[in-house]
Amino acid sequence: MSFTSCFSRSYKYLLPLGFFVIISIMVFTNFFAITLIGENSKSMVGTIQQNIYSDNLLKKMTQASFDRSLILSEMLQTNDPFKNDELFLELNTLATTYVTSRAKFESQDLDQHMQELLDAEGTMSNNLGALQLRIYELIQLDKKVQAVKIFNDKAISLQRGVHDIIHKMTKHQYASSQISIDKLKENNNSAVSNILILNLISISICIILTFFVINKQRKSDARLAQLANTDVLTNLPNRSSFKAFIDKSIDKSPEDIFSIVFFDIDHFKSINDNYGHEIGDKILRQYAAKIKTKIKEEDILSRFGGDEFVLLLRSINSKQDAIDFISKLSKDLDTSCTIDNKEIFITSSIGASIYSNNGESDGSSAKSLLKNADIAMYSAKESGRNCYQFFSIKTKNIIEKGHAITYALHKILKSKNANNELYMKFQPLLNIADNNIKECEALLRWKTKDGLIVSTAEFIAHAEKSNLIEKINNFVIDESCQQQKHWHELGVFDIKININLSGNKKIFAESLMRLDKKIIELGLSPSQFGIELTERTIMEVSEKTIQKLKKLRNAGMKIAIDDFGTGYSSLSYLKKLPITTIKIDKSFISDLPNDKDDRELVKTIITLGHSLNLDIVAEGVETIEQLDFLRLHNCDIAQGYYFHYPLKQDEMIELKVAA
Ligand code: C2E
Ligand code: CA
Ligand code: CA
Repeated sequence: MSFTSCFSRSYKYLLPLGFFVIISIMVFTNFFAITLIGENSKSMVGTIQQNIYSDNLLKKMTQASFDRSLILSEMLQTNDPFKNDELFLELNTLATTYVTSRAKFESQDLDQHMQELLDAEGTMSNNLGALQLRIYELIQLDKKVQAVKIFNDKAISLQRGVHDIIHKMTKHQYASSQISIDKLKENNNSAVSNILILNLISISICIILTFFVINKQRKSDARLAQLANTDVLTNLPNRSSFKAFIDKSIDKSPEDIFSIVFFDIDHFKSINDNYGHEIGDKILRQYAAKIKTKIKEEDILSRFGGDEFVLLLRSINSKQDAIDFISKLSKDLDTSCTIDNKEIFITSSIGASIYSNNGESDGSSAKSLLKNADIAMYSAKESGRNCYQFFSIKTKNIIEKGHAITYALHKILKSKNANNELYMKFQPLLNIADNNIKECEALLRWKTKDGLIVSTAEFIAHAEKSNLIEKINNFVIDESCQQQKHWHELGVFDIKININLSGNKKIFAESLMRLDKKIIELGLSPSQFGIELTERTIMEVSEKTIQKLKKLRNAGMKIAIDDFGTGYSSLSYLKKLPITTIKIDKSFISDLPNDKDDRELVKTIITLGHSLNLDIVAEGVETIEQLDFLRLHNCDIAQGYYFHYPLKQDEMIELKVAA
C-alpha cells in the first residue's frame, strides 16, 4: 500500500484525532495555568496577610515605644506617688508589648536590609530603654529637673530616631510586599497571556486542520468524480459520462444535427495476444490521440472500454458532412503504429448514427443513438471490417435477426434434446467415372418447433461468430458417428460420412479429438469418415493437429479442403498438410461450361490437384453440361442437385441398398 493511499484513507480520522489531541492539550494547559494562577493568588493573599501582620507588629512597637515616652512625660509632670506607681506598671506592660511584638517581628523571614534596620532599631531601642530607665530612677530619686533635662535633651530625639527607623521598616516592609505582589501579579498576567496564546494557537491549529481536511476531502471527492467519469488509460470521458454529453446535446439544441460514431479496432484481441497488453495499451493511447487530432473542439471523444471508442461529432451541419468526415477519418485510421520499434498495422470498423430533427433521426435518446451506431459498426465488421457504415433499418433488421438466431440456437444446444430441432441430412457424392456412391456429406438442418427451416449457411455463420460452433461440431460428430454405426449394423459398410468441421484452431483440434474418440468408442474405423475444412481453418492448425490429421489420414480418413478457391491464395498448405481431396466451390461450377474464366480455373485446379495426388470433387453440379465438362477434364467426384438433394438418413440407405 502506497503512502498516499494509506494517508488518504487515514486523513478522515485525522480531524477527530487532531481535535482530541488539541482539546486535550487545551484542557491540560488551561488546568495547569488556572492552578498556577490559583497558587499565585494564594501567595498574594499570604503576602498581603503577612504584610498586615508585620505592619501591625511594627505599629504595636511604635505605639508601645511612643506610649512609653508619653508615660514618662506624664510621670515627670505628676507628683502623686500612687499615680507614679500606676504609670510605672503601665510602662512595664508597654515594654512587654514592645518586646513581644519585636520578637514576633524578628522571628519572621526577613531580608538583609530589614534585618539591618531591625538591628539598628534594636540598638536604638535598647539605648532608649536604658535612658527611660535612668529617667524613671531620677524621678524616683526626686531629681525631676535632671530627669526632665535628660528627657528633653536625649530621650525625645532618641524616641524620634526609633520612630524613624520603624517608619523605614514599615516602608521597607510595604515596598518588599509590593514587589512580591507585583511579581505574582506579573506571573498571573503572563499565565493569562500564555493561556490566551496557547488557546489561540490551539484554535488556529483546529481551524487549519479543519480547513486541511475539508480541502483534502473536496480534492478526493473531485478525484473520485473524475475517476468515475474518466477512462484511466486514455484520460477520455468514459461510457457513463459520455451519455450525459449526448443527452445535453439533445436538450440544449434540439434543432441541431450531430452524429454518434462508434470505432472498433479490427482484430484487437490478436494484437493483445501477439504483442502483449502493454503494447495493446500503447496502441489504444495512440489511437485515441490520432482521432483527437482530427476532431474539432466541440466534438467529444470517449472510450467505452476495450478497443471501443465513441465520438460525439457536433461539428457538422448535414449528414453529408458526417459522411465526408468519417470517410476521410476511416482512411486516416487505416495506418500503422510504431511502438517499441515495432510497426503494427491497424484498421478500424466504424459505425455511425445521426441525430437530427428533420424526421430522419436514427434515435431520440443517447441510448438509441448509441445502440444504432453500434449496430452500424457491427454491420461494418460483417462487411469485412476496415470500413464504415451508417445506420439503416435494413442493417438493424439483419443484425437483430442474427442475434435472435444466435440466441435461439444457444438455447437449443443447451437443452438436452437438441435433436428435436437439429438433425442431419446426407448428400451423396458420385464417382464421375462409374456413378458409384462411396461417400456422402453430412449436412446439418434446423427445423424450429414452429416448423420453420432456418438456412444452414446462415445459422452456421452466426455459430462461427459465437463459440456455439464448438457445440455444433460436437452435435454433428455424435450424430454422424451414430449414423455410421447404425448403417454398419444394417450391413452397409462402404459409405464414408464426410463431416464439416469449422471453428478456430483450438475448437478444430478439440473436435478432431472428439471424432477420434467417438470412432474408437463405437468400434468404427477412421476410414468410414471424411472431414471437410475450409482454407481458413487449415491456415491456422498447429503442428500437433497436423500430426493428428496425418495419423487419421493414414488410417483411411479422407481430409478435404472445402470451398476451394474462395479462401486464401497461398497453396503451400497443400504440400504441408495431409490433404487427400480438393472440393471445388460451387460458385466456380455454376457457370460452367459457358464462363471462360471458370472453365480455365476449374481445369487448373483439377490439373494442380492431380499433380499433387489429390482427389477432386466438384460441388453444386446441377446440369448435365457441367457434368460433361467435369468428366472431360477428369474430375473425380461430383456432388449436386443434378444427382441428389441432401437426403434423410433412411433415404440415403435406400439409395445405397438399391445400388
Ligand atoms: P458446404 O460445406 O459447401 O455444403 C454444401 C452446400 O451446398 C450445402 O448447403 C448443400 O445443400 C448445397 N448444395 C449441394 N448441392 C448443391 C447444388 O447442386 N446447388 C446448390 N445451389 N447448392 C447445393 P447447406 O446444407 O445449406 O450448407 C451450407 C453450408 O453450411 C455448408 O456449405 C457448410 O459450410 C455449412 N454446413 C452445413 N452443414 C454443416 C455442418 O454439419 N457443420 C458445419 N460446421 N457446417 C455445416
Ligand atoms: Ca462441405
Ligand atoms: Ca463447399
